[in-house]
Amino acid sequence: MKINTKAVHAGDRKPAGEYIPSTTPVHFSSSFTYQNVETLDKVFSNEIEGESYSRYGNPTTGALEELVNSLEGGHATFVTASGMAAIDLALRGALLERRKKVLSASALYGATFKVLMNVLEPFGVETQFVDICNLDAVQAAINDFKPGVVLMETISNPLLRVGQIDKIAEMARAAGAALIVDNTFASPLLVRPMELGAHIVVESLTKFLAGHGDVLLGAVVSDEGHFETLRSLVRTYGPNAGPMESYLAMRGIKTFPLRMERQCANAAKVSAFLRQHPAIERVHYTDDPAHPDAATITRLLPAGMLGAMVSVEIKDAARADIFAFMDELKLIVRGTSLGDVHTLILYPAMASHRDISPKQRERMGIRDNLVRFSIGIEDADDICADLKQALE
Ligand SMILES: *Cc1c(COP(=O)(O)O)cnc(C)c1O
Repeated sequence: MKINTKAVHAGDRKPAGEYIPSTTPVHFSSSFTYQNVETLDKVFSNEIEGESYSRYGNPTTGALEELVNSLEGGHATFVTASGMAAIDLALRGALLERRKKVLSASALYGATFKVLMNVLEPFGVETQFVDICNLDAVQAAINDFKPGVVLMETISNPLLRVGQIDKIAEMARAAGAALIVDNTFASPLLVRPMELGAHIVVESLTKFLAGHGDVLLGAVVSDEGHFETLRSLVRTYGPNAGPMESYLAMRGIKTFPLRMERQCANAAKVSAFLRQHPAIERVHYTDDPAHPDAATITRLLPAGMLGAMVSVEIKDAARADIFAFMDELKLIVRGTSLGDVHTLILYPAMASHRDISPKQRERMGIRDNLVRFSIGIEDADDICADLKQALE
């Protein structure tokens, strides 16, 4: 089945006694009981499948897990209360029986960096960073550092670098390490890292998948090898999502492929508009033939669907000029999220990369004249018109 069909059908229409709800209802119940104790006993012992307690599983969240799993092509998926809870769960699950060492892409979502440094390091997990787009450097680091886990993002923030997931998966596998890929910026419409050899995929469902800016949720997509470990962790420490959020995400995901197609098309149009604008120094978008990872992008991303993130450097703009430009925007929303139906703008030096020194930011290529857009589903002409008036 194709992804558009899966997005609409997977997870739904579980029989509820006599009738079958046409979409999954919200099951607000912390525990579940049966006509007799014998059945409950069999559920507890995993002899028969069934619900018992919502930390072990909830029917609404379970339906969403089935849906996300179907989109990403995993063995099983666990939905968590946030994308960050998903990253923490994935790292703990993969590290449990491995060397407590993470080789991480240096271009990393800010909060993920903090999970490594402030949450896991105090418990003895060592992290080393590498330019994930430099395969020789990755191989050398795997040989020297001997990580238990390699961690990367499909499309990096905010400079949109794209690493070779399939090659890195091979390297990690050969060294006995697990590859975890954060697929939030690409979404399963563009790239399915499980098909490229990743062991575990993490998604912030908050972004493109749920897509409406109304929920915070994450997902860990697991291969067969990590399933039991992850399930046991979830059931023990309880990073679970609530049924209302799961319902909203399921409702959102039904239109995710449609939205994402439009968002990618709009992003290409907005990039083209900004490239020819005299106030713009440089546009970072994945369709640029001069993009440092152009060959990888052509190989791993579908033609014409290159993501909805666009980063832009404004000519001679200092912090105050960027603030003035952002304040002039009438349609585009100033906010820290991405992937919503509405176009969003973020100033990385103020938000995602605030805690990094200006010098270090400069070394990372994130200059103080850089803004990041997440392009929405509006009419592209209206997005461009808003940018045009704000740049005047
Ligand atoms: C937003 C985001 C996260 C964290 O997800 P939350 O749902 O905000 O907890 C992780 N990784 C990436 C790439 C993100 O964009």
